[in-house]
Amino acid sequence: MTTPAETPTADVRLPLRPGLEGLEPYGAPQLDVPVLLNVNENPYPPSEAVVADIADAVARAAHGLNRYPDRDFLELRTELAEYLRVESGVDVGAEQVWAANGSNEVMLHLLQAFGGPGRNVLSFAPTYSMYPEYARDTLTAWVAGRREADFTLDLTHVREQIAEHRPAVVLLASPNNPTGTALPLETVEAICEAAVDAGPTGPDGAPTAAVVVVDEAYGEFRREGVPSALTLLGRHPHLAVSRTMSKAFGMAGLRLGYLAATPALVDHLRVVRLPYHLSAVTQAAALAALRHRGELMAQVASLRAERDALVGWLRDHGLEVAESDANFVLFGLFPDRHEVWNGLLERGVLIREVGPEGWLRVSVGTPQETAAFKAALEEVLGW
Ligand SMILES: *Cc1c(COP(=O)(O)O)cnc(C)c1O
Repeated sequence: MTTPAETPTADVRLPLRPGLEGLEPYGAPQLDVPVLLNVNENPYPPSEAVVADIADAVARAAHGLNRYPDRDFLELRTELAEYLRVESGVDVGAEQVWAANGSNEVMLHLLQAFGGPGRNVLSFAPTYSMYPEYARDTLTAWVAGRREADFTLDLTHVREQIAEHRPAVVLLASPNNPTGTALPLETVEAICEAAVDAGPTGPDGAPTAAVVVVDEAYGEFRREGVPSALTLLGRHPHLAVSRTMSKAFGMAGLRLGYLAATPALVDHLRVVRLPYHLSAVTQAAALAALRHRGELMAQVASLRAERDALVGWLRDHGLEVAESDANFVLFGLFPDRHEVWNGLLERGVLIREVGPEGWLRVSVGTPQETAAFKAALEEVLGW
């Protein structure tokens, strides 16, 4: 006989940390509709060959699950470094690579190591809505400067914000979410220069550098001729460039994000990670997926072309569209964006109501999904 669990009835007040009162867990609405274009996933599931190889690798790892996994996952870091070399032409060693359960956790490690009470993290809005949450969870103060009307950064404003707030971390998404805007290398370089001794004061009273984090979650989708901030790594020891297998690589469900920086910076992250944070199953699956990088990356070119065509189509219909180097497009401007979002939803197409008032964001899907989106939008807007 089992006893059903009972919910205790006596009222006890839990000691919730001040500042967390009434907050809801983050997440885009997950609705069950035919066309999902709301969270910038790669629309193509892995092929049978990739699935079989991952299953095989996980089965082999399962034989050793009585043991804790490799804490430093050097094999995986080596393969990620190799991937970056092929993708961006930048040579980084395994000791310059760090990985965690999604780049979300990589960012958390960065703020655990460099943020904290009395410290600031600076970013520029509109940007990724998770950033303030990493700040909150690490008790780091969140400071948001602004982006210009075309969502680029004004260097004078950026320098002023850095000088005023002496941030421990400057978080720059490039391409930015939700706008798709990539930062020119000169901008990242100028920010690195401004950040050299503009961080918080160290224990000896002298200023430290602000760590500049370029979040390239959508880096692989950048247009021809747009370089990655990885190319600046050799010159700036306080620069970290983060990537993820969630978007271009088509492995959002795997939860594997990573960054490249100096070995010294990576060593600081190793201090704050939980022991064995990357499970043996995750490591095995990620390694297997990376062996198929050629095939998995093949879709990126077609998604890019699909994106450029979508931008053109929306503009041809008189809409405003932000320049995009990502696998999504921010478009508008609508007097009542919720009505448009809802009209699409009623026609089975889920996009994201995000970004500044009046704008909507749609992810690039398969050609069929894009066609469904276009047909639904034509109906909603009465074209
Ligand atoms: C999707 C996204 C990520 C990726 O997060 P994961 O935890 O790696 O899935 C990171 N940064 C930005 C700006 C994103 O949009």
